[in-house]
Amino acid sequence: LARHYLERIGASGHNAFLHVDEELSLAQAKAADARFADGSAGVLTGIPIAHKDIFVTRGWRSTAASKMLGNYVSPFDATVVEKFGDAGMVTLGKLNCDEFAMGSANENSAFGAVKNPWDALAVPGGSSGGSAAAIAARLAPAATGTDTGGSIRQPAAFCGITGIKPTYGRVSRFGMIAFASSLDQGGPMARTAEDCALLLNEMVGFDKRDSTSLTAEQGNEREDFTRDLNRPLSGLRIGVPKEYFGEGLASDVEQAVRAALDEFVKLGATLVEISLPKTALSIPVYYIIAPAEASSNLSRFDGARYGYRTPEYKDLQDMYKKTRAEGFGKEVQRRIMVGTYVLCHGYYDAYYVQAQKIRRLIADDFQAAFKDQCDVIMGPVAPTVAWDLGSKSNDPVANYLADIFTLSTSLAGLPGMSIPVGFGQGEKNAKRPVGLQIIGNYFAEAKLLNIAHQYQ
Ligand code: GLN
Repeated sequence: LARHYLERIGASGHNAFLHVDEELSLAQAKAADARFADGSAGVLTGIPIAHKDIFVTRGWRSTAASKMLGNYVSPFDATVVEKFGDAGMVTLGKLNCDEFAMGSANENSAFGAVKNPWDALAVPGGSSGGSAAAIAARLAPAATGTDTGGSIRQPAAFCGITGIKPTYGRVSRFGMIAFASSLDQGGPMARTAEDCALLLNEMVGFDKRDSTSLTAEQGNEREDFTRDLNRPLSGLRIGVPKEYFGEGLASDVEQAVRAALDEFVKLGATLVEISLPKTALSIPVYYIIAPAEASSNLSRFDGARYGYRTPEYKDLQDMYKKTRAEGFGKEVQRRIMVGTYVLCHGYYDAYYVQAQKIRRLIADDFQAAFKDQCDVIMGPVAPTVAWDLGSKSNDPVANYLADIFTLSTSLAGLPGMSIPVGFGQGEKNAKRPVGLQIIGNYFAEAKLLNIAHQYQ
């Protein structure tokens, strides 16, 4: 299996992988074979997986798609990587993404953009664009992704695959290179909900090395996410937020999403119109909070401890300045500047504190809907299908606006999922996938996977 995928990766031209090491992969495959011989193999033993380059991996380069970490080899494994390793999965390599997971199109990678396997003119989405493209192009059967404001769901939608962002705190962030710590959450990406369930079984659980990891007492028990896959959907109440179907939603996306909702009605569900009135505010709120946290997290890249250091400098100040100017890409620098600005004395109350207050109100809107109106919420993942490579790469705000339907779920810490539900049209009549978003209350991952599986 590992050889099969390594050959496909070698022959592919999507730029989905940043780092492949056949020797390391085949050694892991051999170890997996041995587990079949000695009877210790589990359901995932020997199954290949590729990791977003945000997860650090012992022995492999871990770059976060940044020049800053261009030659960085981690001395330890991220918890998620370690767990899949313990299960006997075989690492195929490290996947391209937006630099430090900042982006919606995978065009912010220091190592070049990724091509959408459905249409080489289209972006794959971001920031987990390499993960989504690798699965869509059958370069890997499973991948890890991280989602801070949509980075699992949106590339899954753009590439026609399945991905789930769990409840914040369920999956350890240890060894996940930090972007915005109060939002970052790892999750699985694969072809189907069933595959995602098998992967999620290994991922969740308390980790004392992550200060915001949820404990079993708080609800983060390990569970079998495949247990409810075949449960019928009769009686399911699906909330359909009116704010997700307004102006700005492309008609091809709306058509595919509404057709999927009709399918759920045929499967026994009922649709309930709901309102999430603060949806539009999620963009300014997220683009204050995420850069604020990023500016703090990225201060560790100073050229002194590890990673890139500028070759020539006069003194320490000069070394810091040049290292960060040369090592970080434009979008990362932009976010550090925005983040530093909103946190500085005098603006902190006006921006950061206000954003935190609205963040709470956004979470309250979801709770009001889940209280007595609906069991889950459905809508589009993104307002359009994948756009053309290069068409928004010089327009950060256009990228930010495309995150409108995924940001509020992240701000509330809720689990969200994307499943493929058809196609819209690209510029030259190419088929570009559409994703349906399914949002649940805290710890409702098994329910989301059940609903997705019934559709698939
Ligand atoms: N597109 C969003 C951003 O650029 C979300 C990225 C993410 O989820 N990592 O910040």
